[in-house]
Amino acid sequence: MISLKRNTKYELTPAKGLRSRNIYNPSSKADFKISRGKFFDFLTCQRCFYLDRVKGVVSPSLPGWSLNAATDELLKKEFDICREKRQPHRLFPQYDLEHIIPFDHPDLNKWRDSLRAGLMSRHRDTNIILTGGVDDIWINTNTEEIIVVDYKSQANRRPVEVWSYLSSVYHQGYKVQLDFYAYLLKKMKFKVAKTGYFLVCNGNKEANGFYGNMKFSETLIPYDTSTDWIEKEVDKMYDLMNSTYLPKHNTSCENCAYAARRAEFENL
Ligand code: SF4
Repeated sequence: MISLKRNTKYELTPAKGLRSRNIYNPSSKADFKISRGKFFDFLTCQRCFYLDRVKGVVSPSLPGWSLNAATDELLKKEFDICREKRQPHRLFPQYDLEHIIPFDHPDLNKWRDSLRAGLMSRHRDTNIILTGGVDDIWINTNTEEIIVVDYKSQANRRPVEVWSYLSSVYHQGYKVQLDFYAYLLKKMKFKVAKTGYFLVCNGNKEANGFYGNMKFSETLIPYDTSTDWIEKEVDKMYDLMNSTYLPKHNTSCENCAYAARRAEFENL
């Protein structure tokens, strides 16, 4: 994909490929935030993570997912109404989840704001603050455990089913996402339910036409979160950030393969 750099006035501007701010400095004691997305980058390719966070190398920007963001926003409005009324969402009875309601907390809007705040927890006694913007949190009124939730939008011909959804290679990162939110909330001293949920909105591509509308099916996918593995990985991430070691690249990465091939031709 060709991505052109623009300034805040949307004018084309030279792309330098380097950031001057928000770069980790091992000798600084100042707090440094690592988001759930950057943690997932670490799990995917340590080399890219290191170049980005420690060396300030900027990867090409991606377009926003405005349709997905729109469904998220509408769902938030709908769940906020249930939150205010302390009532289960209209989907819950078909899943026997009448005992679950959206969780109300004065910081909820901060926790949902992945750009400026999010859930936050310090890693051990380091200056690393782990953050993650959660879509929603519900509460089991029987056990008082809170439940992590992520809304997902897609348009897939296949029906949304628990096993196939959770075993898809493309959804492994989603599971890390819920694990990470559950981990942060536990660190924030909340009692967190093992089972979180994906609310999957699937656009129907089989309709006879668009006519200004797209119908979505809505499916709740329960997922048993696992948080035990996270601290060890964050330890490794922290060690890497404080080292001078540049890890190997991920051999399956198309971006690196593209850059290598291009360099071959440019050096002819
Ligand atoms: S393999 Fe290369 S381009 Fe791909 S994520 Fe790693 S460092 Fe980045």
